[in-house]
Amino acid sequence: MPFRLDERGVYRCEEWDHLDWLEHGFGTRLSEGWLPEGESADLKQVHGAAIIRAGGPASRFCEGDALITDCQGLWVRIRTADCLPVLFVDERRRAVAAVHCGWRGVRLGLAATTVRRMGEEFGSAPAHLLAAIGPGIGPCCFAVGPEVASEFREVFPERGDLDRTTTLNLEEAVLRQLEQAGVARTRVSRAGLCTRCDGERFHSFRRDREFAGRMESGIRVKR
Ligand SMILES: [Zn+2]
Repeated sequence: MPFRLDERGVYRCEEWDHLDWLEHGFGTRLSEGWLPEGESADLKQVHGAAIIRAGGPASRFCEGDALITDCQGLWVRIRTADCLPVLFVDERRRAVAAVHCGWRGVRLGLAATTVRRMGEEFGSAPAHLLAAIGPGIGPCCFAVGPEVASEFREVFPERGDLDRTTTLNLEEAVLRQLEQAGVARTRVSRAGLCTRCDGERFHSFRRDREFAGRMESGIRVKR
């Protein structure tokens, strides 16, 4: 697995180690408070399609589920408990993004629209982007009813079981959407860790419901 858990309880994508101007991490339930509160931009997450360009520190004033920035020193952060945290970096333009991607976000194609928005805002070419998908609910645990499953016909056209209760692989769905947006699979790192299966390491809304905490993931270009 190309992710390692560091001494602070944060997963780092090893395939990004060579980017010495970048800092990033996927928090766990062991890493409470690992992201600094200052110099960071945060959102009021609403499982929607809004992508916010952060120009400076801000705390949950805006509603949205994806943050992008090219500001040096500024963290963009998101919170998850089963939804997929997806981080992006543009190696050429030195721009970054943090995306909160649950099944609603996947249905809305949020990861792919973030790629397009980075193109509009920063001139990012999809071929120069790297993405990393952190821990989230796995296909082992993500059972859904037909009302949710049927929303995934476009992304899983080969499946004949989306009209009934079944399981979904959100990570695979994001991979396919990113591929369509021009980000090759080989440039997407995946943790492949299920938050519901591992209660010691991860918060999980499906497992713990209203008692579930949230894990913080973030990324920034260093000063
Ligand atoms: Zn699982």
